[in-house]
Formats: sequence, structure tokens, C-alpha cells
Amino acid sequence: MGFHTYFANSYLEARQNFLISCLDDATLIKSWQHPLRGMTGEKLYVDLAWFGSLAAQKVLILLSATHGVEGFSGSGIQVGSLKTNWHKQADNDVAIVMIHGLNPWGMSYCRRVNEDGVDLNRNFLDFKQPLPKNNIYYDLADIIVPSEWTVETQRQTLQQLFEYLYSHEFSAEAIAQGQYSHWYAPFYGGEVPAWSNRIFQRIVAQYLQDKQAVGLLDYHTGLGQYGTGQLMGIDSDLHTTNLAAMIWGDKLVMTGSANSVAVYKPHGTLIAALQNNLDRSICLAAAYEFGTIPETEVFDALRADRWLYYHGDVNSTQARIIRQGMIDAFYSHDPDWQESICHLAFTAQAELLAGLKSL
Ligand SMILES: [Zn+2]
Repeated sequence: MGFHTYFANSYLEARQNFLISCLDDATLIKSWQHPLRGMTGEKLYVDLAWFGSLAAQKVLILLSATHGVEGFSGSGIQVGSLKTNWHKQADNDVAIVMIHGLNPWGMSYCRRVNEDGVDLNRNFLDFKQPLPKNNIYYDLADIIVPSEWTVETQRQTLQQLFEYLYSHEFSAEAIAQGQYSHWYAPFYGGEVPAWSNRIFQRIVAQYLQDKQAVGLLDYHTGLGQYGTGQLMGIDSDLHTTNLAAMIWGDKLVMTGSANSVAVYKPHGTLIAALQNNLDRSICLAAAYEFGTIPETEVFDALRADRWLYYHGDVNSTQARIIRQGMIDAFYSHDPDWQESICHLAFTAQAELLAGLKSL
């Protein structure tokens, strides 16, 4: 079957494909409705489908759309897994769980952020504690998101940005680490737990506590070479780190290490929060990043998106172009690209499943 049939062109279509493919085999399907509507007035949900026993002591989770628009890829992988009956390997020992559209608003609006402009994968922090400071944004927020978005301002501000980074000896990656001071600029982590964060925490509390082991693949796009993937883990205790290395070999790269596509350590990530919350379980969690267009172009798409929602007109022709730019930055209609990311994802899933079964 053509891999392209797994992928959808809208949030609504993606959700329908997912739910239809789940119906026959799921032990449980649960949906949480988002308080807002989507771009075409559609209702928005986080959907969870559970395969195998609810009492299974090991759970393998596939997650899509932590970063909204990136969900077009993650959803396609989930639907592809269902259409190829991969989920039927779930049993009493290992359950397979798919969480679809964690940031459904962002997916519907083709944005990486949520309805509050928050980067969900920088939002999993304890907001009662002092928040990390990213000094770059105090100097650069209005250069990263200029008040006008023309070819000339894009060129000028990008040059200013690189001059600043060079003179301050910052790497460009420090921008992506996250920030909690400028709500209109990229990688903003928010000031309270976002709706999607609270839903995810509720899922963890309700379904994942006291399991022997939880494995999670969180599907992302926008970093790395076109059509390639990098599996990114985070530092953990020695036992878990060794297990993850046994399962995925040298395919697994630690976030922040020199050979990672993310040579920075982001604050407030979902997998770090999961690992903290499940401290009584073995937690094998990784983000899988699939490359799209060159990273400078991805960054430009992010800047344009931020400009649009801060200074621009969301109903203009320019808005349509910017939205298309976001889709092109985080997804590809190219069947070869889709086939490539599916093969990579399906392999990592199979390895994780085999690893969990062996415990
Ligand atoms: Zn992402």
C-alpha cells in the first residue's frame, strides 16, 4: 500500500483516519475535547487509543503533534502503524498506546506552538520554581520577530542576529533552548502548564502509574537532513540508559551531545517530565526527529509565523503563504520522504517493542 495514504492534509482528516483505523481493535478509545475550535471551526481533541490489556505491566506509547504542525508526520506514522496491523502485537504483557494530536490547536492552525503561543516541548516545568533565563531574548526578541516582515527586513535582521551571536560567542542553538520572557518570540515555554500539558499529565497519572516499564516515541520534524531521522534520548539512570542503548544501539543520541541534531539541552521537555513522573518504572523515552528542509529555512518559517501572530493579519494572503511555509518546514508531501520516515519509525517501534517484551 502507498505510504502516502497514511498522511492527511488537515487536522480533521488526520483525526478521522486515526479513529477509523483504531475502531476495530482498541481496548479503549478516550478523547479529551480542547476548549477552542480549529481553523475551519472543527472541534479539537487529544485522542488516546489503547491496544492490548489495560493491566499490561509494560506500555509502549506513540505520540504525535507535541509540536502542532509536526503532527502531520507523526499522525501519518500512527495511521501507517495501524493500517499495517503493527498494533496487533499488543497483548497482556505489553500494551500499545497511541496518543494522537497532543497539541491539536497547533496542528489545525499549522503552527508549532499552541493556542497561547507556547512551545509545548518547553512547557513541562515546575512553574512554582524560578524559570530558566535565556538572556539572548532580552537583546534579540525584536530582531528575531521584527515589526515588519519583508524580504529586506528578513535579510537585515538575520544579519544582525548572526553578528550578535558571533560577537557574544553564542551558538545559534542557544536560541532553541527555550525562553520564558518573550511570549511573542520562538521557543517560548509559557508561564503555566498548558492545556495539552495538563491532559498529558492526566494520562500519565491515570494510565501509566506503577507499570513495570513505559516506552515512548514522541515524533517530531524540522531538524536534520531531509528524510533522515535521529532518535534523541535524555540522560537517565545507568540501568535505563544501558537498556535504551541495548534496544536502539548507536542510533540513540543523547540530546545536547556533540553528534546530536540538537546540540543544546532544551528546558521543560515532555520526555524529561515523563521520566520524572514515572520514577518507579523503567522509562524508555525518546524523541524521533525527521529532517525536512534546511534548518535556516525552518527558522525563517518560525520567525514568519511569530511575526504573523504578533504584527500581521491572520486573514491576509501573506498569512496563507506563511502557513504554507510552516507546512513545508515541518512536513513533506513527497512520497519518498513519507516512505523514508515511516521505515525509520516502524524500525524504532519494532526495536522498542522487542526490548519491552524482553524485560
Ligand atoms: Zn518538534
